Amino acid sequence: MSNLDRQAVPSLCGGRGFVVAEPVRELLSPRRVQLGASTEVRRLLPNLGRRMIGAWAFVDHYGPDDIADEPGMQVPPHPHMGLQTVSWLHDGEVLHRDSTGSLQTIRPRELGLMTSGRAISHSEESPKSHARFLHGAQLWVALPDEHRHMEPKFEHHADLPTVTAPGLEATVLLGALDGAASPGSTYSPIVGADLALTAGTETRLPLVPDFEYGVLSMSGEAHVDGVPLLPGSMLYLGCGRDELALRAASDAGLMLLGGEPFEEELIMWWNFVGRTQEEIERAREDWMKGARFGEVKGYDGAPLRAPELPDLPLKPRGRVR
Ligand code: MN
Repeated sequence: MSNLDRQAVPSLCGGRGFVVAEPVRELLSPRRVQLGASTEVRRLLPNLGRRMIGAWAFVDHYGPDDIADEPGMQVPPHPHMGLQTVSWLHDGEVLHRDSTGSLQTIRPRELGLMTSGRAISHSEESPKSHARFLHGAQLWVALPDEHRHMEPKFEHHADLPTVTAPGLEATVLLGALDGAASPGSTYSPIVGADLALTAGTETRLPLVPDFEYGVLSMSGEAHVDGVPLLPGSMLYLGCGRDELALRAASDAGLMLLGGEPFEEELIMWWNFVGRTQEEIERAREDWMKGARFGEVKGYDGAPLRAPELPDLPLKPRGRVR
């Protein structure tokens, strides 16, 4: 998905200054963002005062939307740099095309993982014939400096490992949870897992004290470390935990996101993650003149134009609060 926010305000993120070293329970409210004509998303990251969780730098939750008589998701070709995109669905399907030649339908509980490296472009659309409901999350993972100039690639993993306990099925998207490791490529210590809970479940999830964590609610009513969490909201948990208490008042769908705090300072603007203003400016210019980001074949529509760069000095800074 693309960041279609018209203002495209730069986000300065990363660095130790944001990280909370001890366990906390910080509730993050979503910001509603319109993506094209028919899709409204709830943006959890970047959020006021909370920009990243480990290398997770961007989290949108959308749906469930009834798109029976609508085109559904239609995101034209657009570029990415310096990040991975993670596509995760609970309902519906998304057709992914990219400039490395990928053409892949992503279905519920299958991982679409695109590593942009130095440059990639892609489109995402609901297929012409699609399921009635579309419900999912789109997430970005920042690439550390030593990997951010790599060649782009796309992975599709339809058979992800799961961890089960009574009333819980955890699917590991990225990294490892309780010994189960995802086949998805990672470039920093990170975890992403889908947690499907049945009504009445009380359970504990093993965590890594060095990681910071957050939990996104996608559906149902769950209590995370005692805090009731509604769909479309997120709880930041800080670091220093070796387990997490979960309770489901109804069937519930959560996403656990965590990782080692991302110490490099970043500039995130539009669909790019960089380190300097010059890099971001160059990426924008390259996209607008059709250079570097390749071509997406087969999408019925024009590529997205980059928004104007705001007239601000874009400088990463460490401690912001
Ligand atoms: Mn995208």
